[in-house]
Amino acid sequence: MNAEDKLRLAVLLDTAGDFLRDGHWRDRDAPVFADGADIEGAAIGSTNDTIDTASTANGDTLEAIAAAVRSCTACGLCAMRILAAPGEGAAHPRVLVIGEAPGSEEDEKGRPFIGPAGQLLDRMLASIALSRSTNCFITNTVKCRPPGNRTPLPAETAACAPFLARQIRLLQPAFILCMGRVAAQTMLHTSEGIGHIRGRFFDYRADTADAADRGEPIPLIATYHPSALLREPNLKRPAWEDLKKLLERLQT
Ligand code: SF4
Repeated sequence: MNAEDKLRLAVLLDTAGDFLRDGHWRDRDAPVFADGADIEGAAIGSTNDTIDTASTANGDTLEAIAAAVRSCTACGLCAMRILAAPGEGAAHPRVLVIGEAPGSEEDEKGRPFIGPAGQLLDRMLASIALSRSTNCFITNTVKCRPPGNRTPLPAETAACAPFLARQIRLLQPAFILCMGRVAAQTMLHTSEGIGHIRGRFFDYRADTADAADRGEPIPLIATYHPSALLREPNLKRPAWEDLKKLLERLQT
């Protein structure tokens, strides 16, 4: 069992214990494991295993999108980033998770949702049998960190939107899960608050001039951003209600 498998198992067991005890996730640091002897084929599609396997009819790939993101200068955020965080996860995900923007740890490592909020996100996903290692892909509306973690400007979100559109076209997720107000408002083109948007299913359709290119609508649900849950633990209960609705759909 390698370190990633050990972490996944530990998070699953911790999460189960939290729900039995408190009815929601508790905050704790993710344990750190060293790699043991690898069992050939035991890991279910690690991030790197899966990334190369997705491609569309036009030849687009996750690697090509990631490379384009890393060299992108389409908005001013490029000047302040250490590393862009294009996104990571399964090449054929059931759920595409979309957050707001990378934070400082994500900026340093070039990976989405790896700080405290990311660790809580992993626990939230694990509670409904989702994981970035197996059946989720995780990304943000903008791929570079806004200074001081401010909300991305509309122009920055618009400049980055083509990357997200390419990821959605390529990944063809069964569901989209938006974490927080900014992702939900961006995807749904609304100014409604997250309190009104969350916990309801919407149809996401690609934003293309040609209606024939829009494809099938993808069911989209939004909930609170894990950062909001860390600030306001009383939001954990409604967030769990939202995730249960997604779980019900996933099971059918
Ligand atoms: Fe390019 Fe998006 Fe980064 Fe702006 S945020 S520089 S559009 S990758």
